[in-house]
Amino acid sequence: MSSVIDSKTQTTNSNLSEQAIPAKSEFHSQMIAWRHWLHQHPELSFEELLTSDYIASVLEKHNIKMHRGLATTGIVASIQGSRKGGSIGLRADMDALPILEMNEFAHKSLHDGKMHACGHDGHSTMLLGAAVYLKQHNDFAGTVHFIFQPAEEGGHGGEKMVQEGLFDMFPCDSVYGMHNWPGLAVGKFAVHDKAVMAAEETINITVSGKGGHAAMPDQVIDPVLSGAHVITALQSIVSRNVAPTQSAVISISMVKAGSIANVIPNTIQLTGTLRYFEPEVGVMVKQRMHSVVENICSAMGTTGSLYFSEGYPATINTPKYAQLCADSAAKVVGSENVLRDMSPSMGAEDFSFILNANQGAYIWIGNGEVPAGQPEGGCMLHNTQYDFNDEISAAGASYWIQLVKDILV
Ligand SMILES: [Zn+2]
Ligand SMILES: [Zn+2]
Repeated sequence: MSSVIDSKTQTTNSNLSEQAIPAKSEFHSQMIAWRHWLHQHPELSFEELLTSDYIASVLEKHNIKMHRGLATTGIVASIQGSRKGGSIGLRADMDALPILEMNEFAHKSLHDGKMHACGHDGHSTMLLGAAVYLKQHNDFAGTVHFIFQPAEEGGHGGEKMVQEGLFDMFPCDSVYGMHNWPGLAVGKFAVHDKAVMAAEETINITVSGKGGHAAMPDQVIDPVLSGAHVITALQSIVSRNVAPTQSAVISISMVKAGSIANVIPNTIQLTGTLRYFEPEVGVMVKQRMHSVVENICSAMGTTGSLYFSEGYPATINTPKYAQLCADSAAKVVGSENVLRDMSPSMGAEDFSFILNANQGAYIWIGNGEVPAGQPEGGCMLHNTQYDFNDEISAAGASYWIQLVKDILV
């Protein structure tokens, strides 16, 4: 992997301004030490007690005032600029995943079965770096609120912070998020004008029939066969009902039925995930799914029921704020290193709740391409061998600092 700003980038890019926190500086080394501590102490959603204590201790050491306890372990630190002005929010997530880490480096997880496999240790580190730097260099106009949220991984931590009064207590004119992105090269950022991450809902289907001896199928009403037809028919919805210019995914990923070869069970349960960007696509797909489940089952003599567990809405940037992010990122890494045309991801993000409650943008910072020799997907998010790339944290924190200085003028 190339360095955050290699000599080639520096000589070919005339727009490049110096990073507030240079790569390989003493400040960067301090950030790497924070990151390694956080990586060694991963905690699951709403259990980020050591993590939030650690972040709070660094903030305290630098005399940064903070509020603790929103959504249990959330922290909001605030720094006033040297001049009066507006206010913005910058957000990082703190939680880890229930994954057994397979890495063998010195900073591997000390908590068995838990792992920072999504890089939230790096996100917290970059935001902490920006806070410490801006406390010492507060030549901006207004207030920055540094939001450290719990439970991004399916726990609705961001939504909970909003419900508990995040923006009433800490009003923000706009709010910003950043996620590391494996596969995107080190030294690059990606900024989407509108959709970045998809809406996500869990599909729960139960097909009920009448079980009995598997050798006497005429005596039973077979829910397994109905379920198989339902799985197949659901796949016609995206291909035949969603416009080719729009996106949706229906994946059935869990099938539970029966316990022995010679008994047809009474029920089969199908579980999966639904993803889409536009709310109207979600409404239409869900209507079609209800119709498919009910009518296929009815035609085969079984009964089908379907419900969706509440998930995350789509993460949609406001173009005006996305442009501000792209401009600030360009000042850190050069405009040629800020991608504006990457496809959005069908993954989902809790930051969607924060963007629905306020306005702003969420961007990606390159975590590096998969290095040669790594197992396939070795550095991808939620993988047992993933690790946040320390090489990028100086540029990430410098982007936050640049964004503050560009917006709060
Ligand atoms: Zn994740
Ligand atoms: Zn994540």
